[in-house]
Parts: sequence; structure tokens; C-alpha cells
Amino acid sequence: MSNAGRWGEWEPVIGLEVHVQLSTSSKMFSGAGTAFGAAPNSQACAVDLGLPGVLPVINRAAVHKAVRFGLAIGAEVNQHSIFDRKNYFYPDLPKGYQISQFEQPIVGRGSLTLTLADGEEKSVGITRAHLEEDAGKSIHDLVPGKTAIDLNRAGTPLLEVVSEPELGSPEEAAAYFRKLQSLVRYLEICDGNLAQGSMRCDANVSIRKRGSNELGQRTETKNINSFRFVEQAISYEIERQIGVLESGGTIVQETRLYDPDADETRSMRTKEDSDDYRYFPDPDLLPLIVSDAELNAIRDAMPELPEARKQRYIETLGLTAYDAELLVADPDTARYFEAAAAVAGDGKLTANWMLGELAAALNREELEIGSSKVAPEALGELVVRITDGTISGKIAKTVFEKLWSAEQPLTVDAVIEAEGLTQLSDSGAIETIVDEIIAANPKQVEQFRNGKEKVFGFFVGQVMKATQGKANPATVNEVLRAKLAP
Ligand code: ADP
Ligand code: MG
Repeated sequence: MSNAGRWGEWEPVIGLEVHVQLSTSSKMFSGAGTAFGAAPNSQACAVDLGLPGVLPVINRAAVHKAVRFGLAIGAEVNQHSIFDRKNYFYPDLPKGYQISQFEQPIVGRGSLTLTLADGEEKSVGITRAHLEEDAGKSIHDLVPGKTAIDLNRAGTPLLEVVSEPELGSPEEAAAYFRKLQSLVRYLEICDGNLAQGSMRCDANVSIRKRGSNELGQRTETKNINSFRFVEQAISYEIERQIGVLESGGTIVQETRLYDPDADETRSMRTKEDSDDYRYFPDPDLLPLIVSDAELNAIRDAMPELPEARKQRYIETLGLTAYDAELLVADPDTARYFEAAAAVAGDGKLTANWMLGELAAALNREELEIGSSKVAPEALGELVVRITDGTISGKIAKTVFEKLWSAEQPLTVDAVIEAEGLTQLSDSGAIETIVDEIIAANPKQVEQFRNGKEKVFGFFVGQVMKATQGKANPATVNEVLRAKLAP
């Protein structure tokens, strides 16, 4: 997508801060549970409530997940990092501070490669990723005139991933957010569920004159929880800033909130500087040390990542970059593909079926691939029956529909058998049919023999009609050529 001229003489600069909720069974510094949807305040212990005399204990599983992420983005993993207190007052923060990492985060500089809509790749810098605990939730619409506090989320482990200001459009920002979701799912460090708040994004947006190297003053729009809203909130903010600057105003650094109903961002507060948070190392926690042995064990257990997988699909299975990108975009799709292709023995044809018939069927019924009504093994068998000539590609579509709509899971061979769909490859049988058709259509035979090549298609059509589409097209071709020869 070309952005030239899209915002006149202006160009936007965007940096995202994404909060990734790490999927651990207990909290960052306490043993309380983290299950989603539990009864309010049923998963908050004395540590989460900040009662006097309690001490935080670092959740090692959360640390390991952060390290996995660091390795996946090619970042330096800091084997020595520090937890700090970030001080502010808010009703859903009982301690009066959040434990976070400030100057020495666990994950340093890395990068993420995006594939843009035009197929071009772009590497986006990740400044850092640090561990922290989440705050509780203030609920304003439960008790009239009052605010209710649910502390179940207080203390939940978060990895905050901070990008460089290198995203150049709302679409690029959304692509980056999607790529992060895909990655954390591959790494199995977060369920990636935006609707449940497992990933939330703050969008920093500024504009500058095209070609300038300086950054403009930015605003930060908080807590965006869908891919669509990321695009909409940023688009709105770019237009708003252009309006302010073109009418002679200035942009103030502030925190804004996106309202999806009104499709606009609104000022929440003028921005605190980090000074306002009075960061200092948490005296209750020792430095976080990741030993060589721990780091090596995590490195050895790394799964194959989407980029590597994509290259493998292109190089060893002969897929196009475009198809490979679609198949690796989310781990469930990739898992399905692997399972189907293993049975099929033909990656390219399996990919065609997944991105064609299967994708269409899933779309039609708004299903995720994990709920597909055709199992990957069945799709693999279907591909086998096409490649071994038992059925044609056209008949395979019929078989696919039968498999899809069956009450009980059926095997491909059972459907082919029951419906009598086996491809007719016996040249003797086809010859008999061809003879009959030639005898019944002397005019067309005459035309063909006088050089009217187009009539050949008519004969193919007649044979297919007579065999209900079951004749092997290659055999039909061969027999017709031989019999029609003058
Ligand atoms: P904080 O928001 O906590 O003060 P930073 O100043 O480090 O933290 O910036 C956070 C995010 O803002 C980063 O993602 C960064 O890329 C982005 N950012 C910083 N300056 C700008 C700018 N002028 N325009 C757009 N994004 C920016
Ligand atoms: Mg910020």
C-alpha cells in the first residue's frame, strides 16, 4: 500500500506498547490463581492486596516466558535485570505502586519482521520488553454512583513490549500487533485473546513534515483491544493532529482514550513524565538472575518460529511466499497444514485445498480452523485420492462437501465408495462411450476434422456428461484425440 500523498505533506510516526498477559497459572509475585472470569476478588491474596508484612516472590514460569520471547525476536536477554517500583495512586492499585522494570529490563533490543499488504517485508525495531504486574479493574457501571473494584487481575504477569517509533501507517501498526499475537501464540506464552484483554495496546502517534528526520510531539492512546480499533484510533489521531497543526495549534503530550462508539480519541490527562512515577528498585526483591543453564535450556526448547517455518514451506514444499505466509500466520492453521500435508504427501496441493475449499467453508460458517468439520487427516486423504487418480479435482469438491456436512465423521474412501464417485480411468470403457458420441454427432466430427479445434471441447463435455464427471480427463483427452484423428 502506498502512503505517498495520503496525508498531504504530513507523515505519521507510530510506536506501540503492547501488554502481553503471560499465561501462567499463578501471579507474577504471589501464588493466587489467574483463571479468566472467576468471581470478583476470589483470586487476590494478601500479596496482591498489598497487606503489611507480605513479600513478593518472583514467578519463574513468567521469567522463562519472557526469555522465550526475547530469544524469538533476536534480542539480547539480560541475565541480570532489576524490578522497580512505579509509584502512582489509583483505587485498583492497592499497594500504591506497580512492580515493573525500568532501567534494566529482562529483554533488550530486538526486531520483528512484518509482511505488508503489497508482500514487501519490513523489520520493526523492538526497544525492550519488561516484566511487570497488572493492576486490578475499576468497574464503573455495576453499582450506581459508585466504583466497584475487582482485584483478580492485580498481580497478573505482563510482558510489556515496546516498539521503536518506526511504524508508518495505521495498517502497519495493526500488522505489527497481529504479528506479535501470532508470535506469542507460537511461543505458547500468551493465549493472544484480545477480547479477554490478554493483549492490550497503547498507540503513540505523532506527525511530521514528510522527509523530516525529527520526531513530532506525540500523544498516547491507551488500552486498545482489537486490531480494527488500533487502525481506527490511529487514523483518527493522525487526522486530528493534522487538523490542530494546520490551524496553527500545537500538539500537547497527553494520554488519550479511544471511544469505539464515537470513533474518536479523547484527552484523559496530560502526560506524566517518568519522573512523576518516582521509580526506584524494589527493596523487597533481589536482582533477577537468569543463569546460563536456564538460558540454554530455554533456547533448546524453542519451537520452530513462523519465519523459519515459512522459509521451509517455500524451499522444501514449493509453496509461494504468499501461501506460506497465510499458512504460518497462526499456529492452529500451521498445525492443521502440517497434519494434512503429512498424510497427503503433497504440500502444494494440500495448501491449495486449505486456502481454497477449506477456507471458504470455514468462512461461510464463521468457524476457526480448530473447529473445522473436516479433520486434517481427512483433507490429507482427499489429496491422496486426487493424486493417485481415484477421483478428479472436480469430484473431490463433492467429496469435500459430503465430508463437511456429514453428521458423523466419514472417511474419504467411504464417501467415494458410497456415492460411486470413483474416477473412470479404464480406457476400454471410455472408448465405448467415445464411440457412441462420435456416432451420434457426425456434424461436429466433420467440423473438427476440417480444423475447427474448438469443437474438441464439445466432445470432452459430452463424455463428461455421459460419465457424470467421473471420467479421467487425461484418458478422455487421449482417447478422443486418437478416435477423432482424420
Ligand atoms: P513512555 O510512554 O512510558 O514515556 P517512551 O518514551 O519510551 O515511554 O515511549 C514509549 C513509546 O512511544 C515507544 O513505543 C516509542 O516508540 C513511542 N514514541 C516515542 N516518541 C514518539 C514519537 N515522537 N512519535 C511516535 N511514537 C513515539
Ligand atoms: Mg507509555
